[in-house]
Amino acid sequence: MSDFLPTGIQLSYLVAASLFIVGLKKLGSPATARQGNFLAAVGMLLAVVATLLDRQVLSYEMILVGLAVGSLIGAIAAQKVAMTAMPQMVGLLNGLGGAASALVAVAEFWRLRGTSQAIPLDANVSMLLDVFIGGVTFTGSMIAFAKLQGLISGSPVTFPLQQPINALLLVGFVVGSGYLLVSPENLPIFLAVAGISLLLGVLFVLPIGGGDMPVVISLLNSLSGLAASAAGFVVMNNMLIIAGALVGASGLILTQIMCKAMNRSLASVLFGSFGKAGVSGGSGTEDKTVHSIDPEEGAMMLGYARSVVIVPGYGMAVAQAQHSVRELADQLEKMGVEVKYAIHPVAGRMPGHMNVLLAEANVPYPQLYDMDDINPQFEQTDVALVIGANDVVNPAARSDAASPIYGMPILEVDRAKHTIVIKRGMSTGFAGVDNDLFYKDKTMMLFGSAKDVVAKLVSEVKQL
Ligand code: NDP
Repeated sequence: MSDFLPTGIQLSYLVAASLFIVGLKKLGSPATARQGNFLAAVGMLLAVVATLLDRQVLSYEMILVGLAVGSLIGAIAAQKVAMTAMPQMVGLLNGLGGAASALVAVAEFWRLRGTSQAIPLDANVSMLLDVFIGGVTFTGSMIAFAKLQGLISGSPVTFPLQQPINALLLVGFVVGSGYLLVSPENLPIFLAVAGISLLLGVLFVLPIGGGDMPVVISLLNSLSGLAASAAGFVVMNNMLIIAGALVGASGLILTQIMCKAMNRSLASVLFGSFGKAGVSGGSGTEDKTVHSIDPEEGAMMLGYARSVVIVPGYGMAVAQAQHSVRELADQLEKMGVEVKYAIHPVAGRMPGHMNVLLAEANVPYPQLYDMDDINPQFEQTDVALVIGANDVVNPAARSDAASPIYGMPILEVDRAKHTIVIKRGMSTGFAGVDNDLFYKDKTMMLFGSAKDVVAKLVSEVKQL
Protein backbone atom coordinates (compact mmCIF):
# COMPACT_ATOMS: atom_id res chain seq x y z
CA MET A 1 0.00 0.00 0.00
CA SER A 2 2.72 2.45 1.03
CA ASP A 3 4.55 2.07 -2.35
CA PHE A 4 1.39 2.00 -4.37
CA LEU A 5 -0.01 5.28 -3.05
CA PRO A 6 2.67 7.68 -4.38
CA THR A 7 2.60 5.96 -7.80
CA GLY A 8 -1.20 6.14 -7.83
CA ILE A 9 -1.07 9.84 -6.99
CA GLN A 10 1.42 10.60 -9.77
CA LEU A 11 -0.70 8.56 -12.21
CA SER A 12 -3.82 10.48 -11.18
CA TYR A 13 -1.91 13.72 -11.77
CA LEU A 14 -0.95 12.50 -15.22
CA VAL A 15 -4.58 11.69 -16.07
CA ALA A 16 -5.70 15.05 -14.62
CA ALA A 17 -3.09 16.93 -16.66
CA SER A 18 -4.26 15.12 -19.82
CA LEU A 19 -7.87 16.06 -19.03
CA PHE A 20 -6.81 19.71 -18.63
CA ILE A 21 -5.10 19.69 -22.02
CA VAL A 22 -8.02 18.01 -23.83
CA GLY A 23 -10.44 20.34 -21.98
CA LEU A 24 -8.49 23.42 -23.05
CA LYS A 25 -8.47 22.21 -26.65
CA LYS A 26 -12.24 21.73 -26.58
CA LEU A 27 -12.75 25.22 -25.13
CA GLY A 28 -11.54 26.54 -28.49
CA SER A 29 -14.93 26.04 -30.16
CA PRO A 30 -18.42 26.98 -28.88
CA ALA A 31 -19.70 23.58 -29.99
CA THR A 32 -17.34 21.67 -27.68
CA ALA A 33 -16.71 24.29 -24.95
CA ARG A 34 -19.18 22.86 -22.41
CA GLN A 35 -17.68 19.40 -22.78
CA GLY A 36 -14.19 20.88 -22.43
CA ASN A 37 -15.19 22.69 -19.26
CA PHE A 38 -16.63 19.48 -17.85
CA LEU A 39 -13.51 17.43 -18.67
CA ALA A 40 -11.24 20.04 -17.08
CA ALA A 41 -13.47 20.09 -13.98
CA VAL A 42 -13.25 16.28 -13.71
CA GLY A 43 -9.46 16.60 -14.03
CA MET A 44 -9.41 19.16 -11.23
CA LEU A 45 -11.56 16.95 -9.00
CA LEU A 46 -9.21 14.03 -9.62
CA ALA A 47 -6.17 16.20 -8.84
CA VAL A 48 -7.76 17.51 -5.62
CA VAL A 49 -8.79 14.03 -4.43
CA ALA A 50 -5.34 12.62 -5.24
CA THR A 51 -3.68 15.47 -3.31
CA LEU A 52 -5.98 14.91 -0.35
CA LEU A 53 -5.02 11.22 -0.27
CA ASP A 54 -1.36 12.17 -0.28
CA ARG A 55 0.31 11.18 2.98
CA GLN A 56 1.96 14.59 3.26
CA VAL A 57 -1.35 16.25 4.17
CA LEU A 58 -0.97 17.41 7.79
CA SER A 59 -4.42 18.59 8.81
CA TYR A 60 -7.60 17.48 7.06
CA GLU A 61 -9.64 19.63 9.46
CA MET A 62 -8.01 22.85 8.24
CA ILE A 63 -8.54 21.80 4.63
CA LEU A 64 -12.21 21.09 5.28
CA VAL A 65 -12.71 24.50 6.91
CA GLY A 66 -10.99 26.22 3.96
CA LEU A 67 -13.05 24.17 1.50
CA ALA A 68 -16.33 25.07 3.21
CA VAL A 69 -15.58 28.79 3.46
CA GLY A 70 -14.18 29.00 -0.08
CA SER A 71 -17.09 27.04 -1.60
CA LEU A 72 -19.63 29.23 0.12
CA ILE A 73 -18.01 32.48 -1.04
CA GLY A 74 -17.57 31.04 -4.56
CA ALA A 75 -21.20 29.88 -4.82
CA ILE A 76 -22.55 33.25 -3.65
CA ALA A 77 -20.24 35.17 -6.00
CA ALA A 78 -21.20 32.97 -8.96
CA GLN A 79 -24.89 33.71 -8.31
CA LYS A 80 -24.55 37.42 -7.62
CA VAL A 81 -21.86 38.77 -9.96
CA ALA A 82 -23.30 40.13 -13.21
CA MET A 83 -21.83 38.86 -16.48
CA THR A 84 -20.72 42.42 -17.24
CA ALA A 85 -18.67 42.53 -14.01
CA MET A 86 -16.77 39.41 -15.02
CA PRO A 87 -13.44 41.15 -15.86
CA GLN A 88 -13.06 42.53 -12.32
CA MET A 89 -14.22 39.21 -10.85
CA VAL A 90 -11.53 37.41 -12.85
CA GLY A 91 -9.05 40.08 -11.71
CA LEU A 92 -9.92 39.45 -8.08
CA LEU A 93 -9.57 35.69 -8.49
CA ASN A 94 -6.20 36.05 -10.25
CA GLY A 95 -4.98 38.22 -7.40
CA LEU A 96 -6.04 35.69 -4.79
CA GLY A 97 -4.32 32.93 -6.81
CA GLY A 98 -1.11 34.98 -6.87
CA ALA A 99 -1.37 35.66 -3.12
CA ALA A 100 -1.94 31.96 -2.37
CA SER A 101 1.13 30.97 -4.39
CA ALA A 102 3.30 33.63 -2.75
CA LEU A 103 2.12 32.46 0.69
CA VAL A 104 3.24 28.93 -0.16
CA ALA A 105 6.78 30.30 -0.61
CA VAL A 106 6.56 32.35 2.61
CA ALA A 107 5.38 29.28 4.55
CA GLU A 108 8.14 27.13 3.07
CA PHE A 109 10.72 29.81 3.91
CA TRP A 110 9.44 29.79 7.49
CA ARG A 111 9.53 25.99 7.70
CA LEU A 112 13.04 25.66 6.26
CA ARG A 113 14.35 28.46 8.48
CA GLY A 114 13.07 26.57 11.51
CA THR A 115 15.05 23.43 10.62
CA SER A 116 18.73 22.98 11.31
CA GLN A 117 19.53 22.22 7.62
CA ALA A 118 20.67 24.91 5.16
CA ILE A 119 18.03 26.02 2.62
CA PRO A 120 19.00 24.32 -0.69
CA LEU A 121 19.76 26.57 -3.66
CA ASP A 122 16.99 25.18 -5.91
CA ALA A 123 14.35 25.64 -3.19
CA ASN A 124 15.63 29.16 -2.61
CA VAL A 125 15.40 30.15 -6.29
CA SER A 126 11.87 28.69 -6.57
CA MET A 127 10.75 30.57 -3.44
CA LEU A 128 12.12 33.88 -4.69
CA LEU A 129 10.47 33.46 -8.09
CA ASP A 130 7.21 32.48 -6.39
CA VAL A 131 7.26 35.48 -4.03
CA PHE A 132 8.06 37.85 -6.90
CA ILE A 133 5.50 36.63 -9.45
CA GLY A 134 2.82 35.93 -6.81
CA GLY A 135 3.34 39.29 -5.10
CA VAL A 136 3.21 41.30 -8.34
CA THR A 137 0.12 39.35 -9.43
CA PHE A 138 -1.64 39.95 -6.11
CA THR A 139 -1.27 43.71 -5.81
CA GLY A 140 -1.43 44.30 -9.59
CA SER A 141 -4.73 42.42 -9.76
CA MET A 142 -6.12 44.31 -6.78
CA ILE A 143 -5.40 47.64 -8.51
CA ALA A 144 -6.93 46.33 -11.75
CA PHE A 145 -10.01 45.19 -9.81
CA ALA A 146 -10.31 48.58 -8.08
CA LYS A 147 -10.04 50.42 -11.42
CA LEU A 148 -12.67 48.29 -13.16
CA GLN A 149 -15.00 48.38 -10.18
CA GLY A 150 -14.71 52.18 -10.08
CA LEU A 151 -13.21 52.15 -6.56
CA ILE A 152 -10.31 54.24 -7.90
CA SER A 153 -10.00 56.30 -11.08
CA GLY A 154 -9.73 54.25 -14.28
CA SER A 155 -7.42 56.89 -15.81
CA PRO A 156 -3.69 56.22 -16.07
CA VAL A 157 -1.92 57.41 -12.92
CA THR A 158 1.50 58.77 -13.76
CA PHE A 159 4.02 60.69 -11.67
CA PRO A 160 7.53 62.07 -12.22
CA LEU A 161 10.40 59.58 -12.28
CA GLN A 162 7.97 56.66 -12.44
CA GLN A 163 10.10 54.45 -14.71
CA PRO A 164 13.40 55.15 -12.87
CA ILE A 165 11.68 54.32 -9.56
CA ASN A 166 10.37 51.04 -11.00
CA ALA A 167 13.83 50.23 -12.35
CA LEU A 168 15.38 51.01 -8.95
CA LEU A 169 12.91 48.71 -7.19
CA LEU A 170 13.65 45.96 -9.68
CA VAL A 171 17.38 46.35 -9.05
CA GLY A 172 16.61 46.24 -5.29
CA PHE A 173 14.78 42.95 -5.78
CA VAL A 174 17.63 41.44 -7.82
CA VAL A 175 20.28 42.55 -5.30
CA GLY A 176 18.19 41.33 -2.34
CA SER A 177 17.60 37.97 -4.07
CA GLY A 178 21.32 37.65 -4.81
CA TYR A 179 22.04 38.23 -1.14
CA LEU A 180 19.50 35.59 -0.15
CA LEU A 181 21.15 33.04 -2.46
CA VAL A 182 24.29 33.22 -0.34
CA SER A 183 22.61 33.91 2.99
CA PRO A 184 19.20 32.21 2.63
CA GLU A 185 17.96 32.52 6.20
CA ASN A 186 18.06 36.32 6.40
CA LEU A 187 14.50 37.27 7.41
CA PRO A 188 14.65 41.09 6.98
CA ILE A 189 16.01 40.75 3.42
CA PHE A 190 13.36 38.13 2.61
CA LEU A 191 10.63 40.47 3.85
CA ALA A 192 12.18 43.35 1.88
CA VAL A 193 12.14 41.44 -1.43
CA ALA A 194 8.54 40.35 -0.72
CA GLY A 195 7.61 44.01 -0.03
CA ILE A 196 9.31 45.18 -3.23
CA SER A 197 7.32 42.59 -5.23
CA LEU A 198 4.05 43.84 -3.75
CA LEU A 199 4.97 47.47 -4.48
CA LEU A 200 5.99 46.67 -8.05
CA GLY A 201 2.56 45.14 -8.72
CA VAL A 202 0.87 48.40 -7.69
CA LEU A 203 3.27 50.59 -9.68
CA PHE A 204 3.01 48.36 -12.75
CA VAL A 205 -0.79 48.59 -13.06
CA LEU A 206 -1.44 52.17 -11.83
CA PRO A 207 -0.25 53.87 -15.07
CA ILE A 208 -2.41 51.63 -17.26
CA GLY A 209 -5.74 53.13 -18.32
CA GLY A 210 -9.13 51.49 -17.75
CA GLY A 211 -9.41 50.83 -21.50
CA ASP A 212 -6.50 48.45 -21.42
CA MET A 213 -7.35 46.88 -18.09
CA PRO A 214 -8.94 43.69 -19.49
CA VAL A 215 -5.74 42.96 -21.44
CA VAL A 216 -3.81 43.50 -18.21
CA ILE A 217 -6.16 41.15 -16.38
CA SER A 218 -5.51 38.50 -18.98
CA LEU A 219 -1.75 39.03 -18.52
CA LEU A 220 -2.12 38.85 -14.73
CA ASN A 221 -4.08 35.64 -15.22
CA SER A 222 -1.09 34.25 -17.05
CA LEU A 223 1.21 35.44 -14.23
CA SER A 224 -1.00 33.79 -11.60
CA GLY A 225 -0.43 30.52 -13.49
CA LEU A 226 3.32 31.05 -13.48
CA ALA A 227 3.19 31.83 -9.75
CA ALA A 228 1.30 28.56 -9.16
CA SER A 229 3.91 26.74 -11.23
CA ALA A 230 6.70 28.30 -9.13
CA ALA A 231 4.79 27.24 -5.99
CA GLY A 232 4.71 23.73 -7.48
CA PHE A 233 8.52 23.76 -7.62
CA VAL A 234 8.66 25.04 -4.04
CA VAL A 235 6.63 22.11 -2.66
CA MET A 236 7.69 19.74 -5.49
CA ASN A 237 4.14 19.01 -6.63
CA ASN A 238 3.93 17.94 -10.28
CA MET A 239 0.25 18.78 -10.61
CA LEU A 240 0.77 22.37 -9.54
CA ILE A 241 3.74 22.76 -11.88
CA ILE A 242 1.78 21.45 -14.90
CA ALA A 243 -1.53 23.22 -14.16
CA GLY A 244 0.30 26.49 -13.48
CA ALA A 245 2.24 26.21 -16.72
CA LEU A 246 -1.00 25.57 -18.65
CA VAL A 247 -2.65 28.65 -17.13
CA GLY A 248 0.50 30.68 -17.82
CA ALA A 249 0.65 29.64 -21.47
CA SER A 250 -3.08 29.94 -22.22
CA GLY A 251 -3.25 33.32 -20.46
CA LEU A 252 -0.43 34.56 -22.63
CA ILE A 253 -2.18 33.33 -25.80
CA LEU A 254 -5.39 35.08 -24.71
CA THR A 255 -3.46 38.29 -24.02
CA GLN A 256 -2.04 38.12 -27.51
CA ILE A 257 -5.48 37.48 -29.08
CA MET A 258 -6.97 40.46 -27.22
CA CYS A 259 -4.10 42.76 -28.17
CA LYS A 260 -4.54 41.75 -31.80
CA ALA A 261 -8.32 42.26 -31.73
CA MET A 262 -7.82 45.74 -30.23
CA ASN A 263 -4.88 46.45 -32.54
CA ARG A 264 -2.58 47.18 -29.60
CA SER A 265 0.88 45.84 -28.94
CA LEU A 266 1.52 44.45 -25.47
CA ALA A 267 4.30 47.02 -24.99
CA SER A 268 1.92 49.90 -25.77
CA VAL A 269 -0.63 48.46 -23.32
CA LEU A 270 1.95 48.16 -20.54
CA PHE A 271 3.83 51.39 -21.09
CA GLY A 272 1.54 53.54 -23.26
CA SER A 273 -0.81 54.99 -20.58
CA PHE A 274 -3.70 54.59 -23.08
CA GLY A 275 -7.35 54.32 -22.17
CA LYS A 276 -8.04 57.62 -20.48
CA ALA A 277 -11.75 57.83 -19.79
CA GLY A 278 -13.66 60.20 -22.04
CA VAL A 279 -11.32 60.19 -25.03
CA SER A 280 -13.07 61.85 -27.93
CA GLY A 281 -12.53 61.15 -31.57
CA GLY A 282 -14.39 60.92 -34.85
CA SER A 283 -14.82 63.83 -37.17
CA GLY A 284 -16.96 66.17 -35.06
CA THR A 285 -20.60 65.20 -34.74
CA GLU A 286 -22.14 68.47 -33.54
CA ASP A 287 -23.91 69.44 -36.79
CA LYS A 288 -24.89 65.99 -37.94
CA THR A 289 -28.35 64.47 -37.78
CA VAL A 290 -29.45 60.93 -37.26
CA HIS A 291 -32.35 59.05 -38.85
CA SER A 292 -34.50 57.69 -36.09
CA ILE A 293 -37.15 55.03 -36.65
CA ASP A 294 -39.71 53.29 -34.42
CA PRO A 295 -40.09 49.52 -33.86
CA GLU A 296 -42.89 49.28 -36.45
CA GLU A 297 -40.65 50.68 -39.18
CA GLY A 298 -37.77 48.53 -37.95
CA ALA A 299 -39.95 45.41 -38.11
CA MET A 300 -40.94 46.21 -41.71
CA MET A 301 -37.30 46.58 -42.76
CA LEU A 302 -36.38 43.30 -41.09
CA GLY A 303 -39.48 41.32 -42.07
CA TYR A 304 -39.20 42.18 -45.76
CA ALA A 305 -35.43 41.63 -45.96
CA ARG A 306 -33.92 38.54 -47.53
CA SER A 307 -30.87 38.50 -45.29
CA VAL A 308 -30.25 39.96 -41.82
CA VAL A 309 -26.97 39.92 -39.91
CA ILE A 310 -27.32 40.52 -36.17
CA VAL A 311 -24.35 42.21 -34.49
CA PRO A 312 -24.54 41.92 -30.71
CA GLY A 313 -22.43 44.08 -28.40
CA TYR A 314 -22.01 45.15 -24.82
CA GLY A 315 -25.48 46.80 -24.70
CA MET A 316 -27.15 43.45 -25.46
CA ALA A 317 -25.27 41.96 -22.51
CA VAL A 318 -26.25 44.78 -20.16
CA ALA A 319 -29.89 44.56 -21.19
CA GLN A 320 -29.82 40.72 -21.10
CA ALA A 321 -31.62 40.81 -24.43
CA GLN A 322 -30.20 37.55 -25.81
CA HIS A 323 -33.44 35.56 -25.37
CA SER A 324 -35.53 38.21 -27.12
CA VAL A 325 -32.92 38.38 -29.87
CA ARG A 326 -33.21 34.64 -30.40
CA GLU A 327 -36.99 34.98 -30.53
CA LEU A 328 -36.70 37.73 -33.13
CA ALA A 329 -34.34 35.62 -35.22
CA ASP A 330 -36.72 32.63 -35.03
CA GLN A 331 -39.63 34.80 -36.09
CA LEU A 332 -37.69 36.23 -39.03
CA GLU A 333 -36.59 32.78 -40.14
CA LYS A 334 -40.19 31.61 -40.09
CA MET A 335 -40.87 34.38 -42.59
CA GLY A 336 -38.07 33.12 -44.85
CA VAL A 337 -35.41 35.66 -43.85
CA GLU A 338 -31.86 34.30 -43.67
CA VAL A 339 -30.43 35.25 -40.24
CA LYS A 340 -26.76 35.18 -39.21
CA TYR A 341 -24.90 36.52 -36.18
CA ALA A 342 -21.60 38.37 -36.52
CA ILE A 343 -19.26 37.96 -33.55
CA HIS A 344 -16.42 40.40 -32.94
CA PRO A 345 -13.62 38.96 -30.76
CA VAL A 346 -13.78 41.88 -28.27
CA ALA A 347 -17.52 42.62 -28.37
CA GLY A 348 -18.79 42.97 -24.81
CA ARG A 349 -16.40 43.02 -21.92
CA MET A 350 -14.68 39.65 -21.88
CA PRO A 351 -13.39 37.22 -24.47
CA GLY A 352 -16.19 35.04 -25.78
CA HIS A 353 -18.81 37.23 -24.06
CA MET A 354 -21.25 37.17 -26.99
CA ASN A 355 -20.75 33.44 -27.60
CA VAL A 356 -21.63 32.69 -23.99
CA LEU A 357 -24.78 34.84 -24.05
CA LEU A 358 -26.02 33.49 -27.37
CA ALA A 359 -25.31 29.92 -26.26
CA GLU A 360 -27.38 30.63 -23.15
CA ALA A 361 -30.27 31.55 -25.47
CA ASN A 362 -29.65 28.37 -27.50
CA VAL A 363 -28.75 30.16 -30.71
CA PRO A 364 -27.51 27.42 -33.08
CA TYR A 365 -23.69 27.54 -33.45
CA PRO A 366 -23.71 27.33 -37.27
CA GLN A 367 -25.45 30.75 -37.32
CA LEU A 368 -22.48 32.38 -35.55
CA TYR A 369 -19.87 33.89 -37.87
CA ASP A 370 -16.39 35.18 -37.05
CA MET A 371 -15.35 38.61 -38.24
CA ASP A 372 -13.20 37.32 -41.11
CA ASP A 373 -16.01 35.10 -42.41
CA ILE A 374 -18.86 37.62 -42.17
CA ASN A 375 -17.15 40.82 -43.35
CA PRO A 376 -17.08 39.83 -47.05
CA GLN A 377 -20.84 39.05 -46.79
CA PHE A 378 -22.05 42.47 -45.59
CA GLU A 379 -22.29 43.91 -49.10
CA GLN A 380 -24.93 41.28 -49.95
CA THR A 381 -26.74 41.76 -46.64
CA ASP A 382 -30.06 43.64 -46.69
CA VAL A 383 -30.07 44.69 -43.03
CA ALA A 384 -27.28 44.68 -40.44
CA LEU A 385 -29.00 44.83 -37.05
CA VAL A 386 -26.59 46.26 -34.47
CA ILE A 387 -27.77 45.56 -30.92
CA GLY A 388 -25.89 47.51 -28.25
CA ALA A 389 -22.58 47.43 -30.14
CA ASN A 390 -20.59 50.56 -30.81
CA ASP A 391 -16.76 50.40 -30.96
CA VAL A 392 -16.73 47.08 -32.83
CA VAL A 393 -18.70 48.62 -35.72
CA ASN A 394 -17.05 52.07 -35.75
CA PRO A 395 -15.75 52.86 -39.28
CA ALA A 396 -13.29 55.37 -37.78
CA ALA A 397 -11.14 52.32 -36.96
CA ARG A 398 -10.72 51.93 -40.73
CA SER A 399 -10.52 55.51 -41.92
CA ASP A 400 -9.57 57.98 -39.17
CA ALA A 401 -5.86 57.77 -38.42
CA ALA A 402 -6.35 60.16 -35.48
CA SER A 403 -8.89 57.90 -33.77
CA PRO A 404 -7.68 55.99 -30.69
CA ILE A 405 -9.19 52.83 -32.17
CA TYR A 406 -7.59 53.33 -35.61
CA GLY A 407 -6.46 50.00 -37.03
CA MET A 408 -8.73 47.88 -34.82
CA PRO A 409 -10.45 45.32 -37.09
CA ILE A 410 -14.22 46.01 -37.12
CA LEU A 411 -17.42 44.37 -38.31
CA GLU A 412 -18.09 46.29 -41.53
CA VAL A 413 -21.83 46.83 -41.07
CA ASP A 414 -21.67 50.12 -42.98
CA ARG A 415 -21.20 48.06 -46.16
CA ALA A 416 -24.64 46.44 -45.72
CA LYS A 417 -27.57 47.84 -47.74
CA HIS A 418 -29.16 49.16 -44.53
CA THR A 419 -28.10 49.26 -40.92
CA ILE A 420 -30.38 49.44 -37.88
CA VAL A 421 -28.69 50.39 -34.61
CA ILE A 422 -30.43 49.69 -31.31
CA LYS A 423 -29.08 51.72 -28.36
CA ARG A 424 -30.50 54.01 -25.72
CA GLY A 425 -28.97 57.30 -26.86
CA MET A 426 -25.89 58.69 -28.52
CA SER A 427 -23.40 57.70 -25.83
CA THR A 428 -20.00 56.47 -26.83
CA GLY A 429 -18.82 52.94 -26.16
CA PHE A 430 -15.95 51.58 -24.09
CA ALA A 431 -13.22 53.44 -26.02
CA GLY A 432 -15.05 56.77 -25.58
CA VAL A 433 -14.97 57.70 -29.28
CA ASP A 434 -17.81 59.06 -31.43
CA ASN A 435 -19.17 56.82 -34.14
CA ASP A 436 -19.90 58.20 -37.63
CA LEU A 437 -21.89 55.07 -38.47
CA PHE A 438 -24.87 56.54 -36.60
CA TYR A 439 -25.03 59.57 -38.94
CA LYS A 440 -24.83 57.76 -42.25
CA ASP A 441 -27.81 57.95 -44.65
CA LYS A 442 -28.16 54.17 -44.68
CA THR A 443 -28.23 53.95 -40.87
CA MET A 444 -31.48 54.00 -38.89
CA MET A 445 -31.33 54.52 -35.14
CA LEU A 446 -33.85 52.62 -33.04
CA PHE A 447 -33.56 54.18 -29.61
CA GLY A 448 -34.33 52.33 -26.39
CA SER A 449 -32.99 49.64 -24.14
CA ALA A 450 -32.13 46.53 -26.17
CA LYS A 451 -34.47 44.13 -24.38
CA ASP A 452 -37.56 46.39 -24.69
CA VAL A 453 -36.85 47.36 -28.28
CA VAL A 454 -36.20 43.80 -29.44
CA ALA A 455 -39.36 42.59 -27.66
CA LYS A 456 -41.33 45.29 -29.51
CA LEU A 457 -39.70 44.25 -32.79
CA VAL A 458 -40.78 40.65 -32.15
CA SER A 459 -44.41 41.62 -31.63
CA GLU A 460 -44.38 43.98 -34.65
CA VAL A 461 -42.77 41.35 -36.89
CA LYS A 462 -45.47 38.86 -35.81
CA GLN A 463 -48.13 41.26 -37.08
CA LEU A 464 -46.63 41.64 -40.56
P1 NDP B 1 -19.23 49.36 -26.67
O1 NDP B 1 -18.75 49.42 -25.30
O2 NDP B 1 -18.39 49.99 -27.72
O3 NDP B 1 -20.66 50.04 -26.81
C1 NDP B 1 -21.75 49.55 -26.12
C2 NDP B 1 -22.94 50.43 -26.44
O4 NDP B 1 -24.06 49.78 -25.86
C3 NDP B 1 -22.87 51.82 -25.84
O5 NDP B 1 -22.55 52.78 -26.83
C4 NDP B 1 -24.24 52.04 -25.21
O6 NDP B 1 -24.87 53.17 -25.81
C5 NDP B 1 -25.02 50.76 -25.58
N1 NDP B 1 -25.84 50.29 -24.47
C6 NDP B 1 -25.57 50.26 -23.17
N2 NDP B 1 -26.58 49.76 -22.48
C7 NDP B 1 -27.56 49.46 -23.38
C8 NDP B 1 -28.86 48.90 -23.29
N3 NDP B 1 -29.40 48.56 -22.12
N4 NDP B 1 -29.55 48.73 -24.43
C9 NDP B 1 -29.03 49.08 -25.61
N5 NDP B 1 -27.81 49.63 -25.77
C10 NDP B 1 -27.07 49.80 -24.65
O7 NDP B 1 -19.51 47.83 -26.99
P2 NDP B 1 -18.93 46.87 -28.10
O8 NDP B 1 -19.42 45.53 -27.73
O9 NDP B 1 -19.21 47.41 -29.46
O10 NDP B 1 -17.36 46.97 -27.93
C11 NDP B 1 -16.70 46.42 -26.82
C12 NDP B 1 -15.63 47.37 -26.34
O11 NDP B 1 -15.10 46.85 -25.13
C13 NDP B 1 -14.49 47.54 -27.32
O12 NDP B 1 -13.98 48.84 -27.25
C14 NDP B 1 -13.48 46.56 -26.78
O13 NDP B 1 -12.15 46.88 -27.15
C15 NDP B 1 -13.69 46.73 -25.31
N6 NDP B 1 -13.19 45.58 -24.57
C16 NDP B 1 -13.69 44.33 -24.79
C17 NDP B 1 -13.15 43.26 -24.14
C18 NDP B 1 -13.57 41.87 -24.42
O14 NDP B 1 -12.83 40.97 -24.03
N7 NDP B 1 -14.69 41.65 -25.04
C19 NDP B 1 -12.12 43.43 -23.16
C20 NDP B 1 -11.70 44.79 -23.04
C21 NDP B 1 -12.25 45.80 -23.69
P3 NDP B 1 -26.07 53.93 -25.05
O15 NDP B 1 -25.57 54.28 -23.70
O16 NDP B 1 -26.36 55.12 -25.91
O17 NDP B 1 -27.21 52.96 -24.99
